[in-house]
Amino acid sequence: MMTPQKIEERIREIFDENYELLRLEGGHALTEDIRNYALNQVIFYYKKMREVAEKVTETEVKLSLPGQRTPKGRRFSIEGVVDIVREEEEVWMYDIKTHDLDFVLANKELYEKQLNIYGYIWGQLRQNQLDHTAVISTAFPIALRRAWQENDFAKAMYEMEKWNPLVEIESDPKNVTATISDFAAIVDDIEENKFEPAALETLQAEWGSSGTKFATRVCRNCDARFSCESYRRYVLGTGEKGKASFKKYIEDIAPESDQEEWLGASLTQTDFDNL
Ligand code: SF4
Repeated sequence: MMTPQKIEERIREIFDENYELLRLEGGHALTEDIRNYALNQVIFYYKKMREVAEKVTETEVKLSLPGQRTPKGRRFSIEGVVDIVREEEEVWMYDIKTHDLDFVLANKELYEKQLNIYGYIWGQLRQNQLDHTAVISTAFPIALRRAWQENDFAKAMYEMEKWNPLVEIESDPKNVTATISDFAAIVDDIEENKFEPAALETLQAEWGSSGTKFATRVCRNCDARFSCESYRRYVLGTGEKGKASFKKYIEDIAPESDQEEWLGASLTQTDFDNL
C-alpha cells in the first residue's frame, strides 16, 4: 500500500500530466503562481479527505435512469456519477461538487433533488443498501487560502482543522417523481431552443436560502453574462454607479501586472511548442 507521501508525489505527477494535456488541447498556459495554487488546492483536499478516500469501496459509479418521457413525448435518460462507501453496517453515497461549502450548507434543498434520483436508482432500482447521502465540496475555503498565501502556518492549520467538506443531505427517493417531472420540462425547453434568461426580478431576488442575489450567485459564474439582456439591465439598473461598474466590468479584465504575467506565460509556452 502506498504511503501518504508516495500518494502526494503521485498526485503531483498526475497534476503535471493533466496540466500538460489541457495546455496542449486548449492552448492556454497558467502562470507559475496560479499553477502552484491549483496544485496546492488538490493536495490540501487530498489531506483533508484522505480518510474518506481510503474507504471508498466503489468509485465513479455510473447511475442511469433511461426510458423517461417529457410532457411532449420526447424520450430522455438521466445519468450521474457517484462514489460509494461501505463502512461497517452503513452505506454512504457521495456526490462530489466544486461548489463552495457555505453555498452547499445554505442551499441543501438544491442538492436534494439530484440525490433523490441517485438514491432511487441505487437503492430501489438496483436493490442496494443505502443509509446516507452527502455532497462533498471540493472548493478551497477562502480563509484557508488566505492563510496559506500569507504563510501563516498556525492559521492555516486552524482553518484546515475547521474545514469539513462533507455535507450530509437527507434525500428521499419517494420524491423522485416530482424531480423527474422538473427535468422532463427542462428537456422540452432545451429541445425547443427556449433559452430565455431569467427575468430581471429573479436576478434581483435572493437565490435559494444563500442570502445572496441570483445575479451575484449565479450570473457572476455564467459565461453568457456579457451578452445577457437581463444581466445588462440588472447592472445598468443601479444608476450611474451601475453604469460605471458595468464599463469597468467589461474593460477591466485584470490588473496590468496579471495581464503581463499571462502574456509571459503564454509566450513562454508558445516558444516551447515551436521548438
Ligand atoms: S447572466 Fe446567465 S445565469 Fe444570469 S440571467 Fe443571464 S443567462 Fe441566466
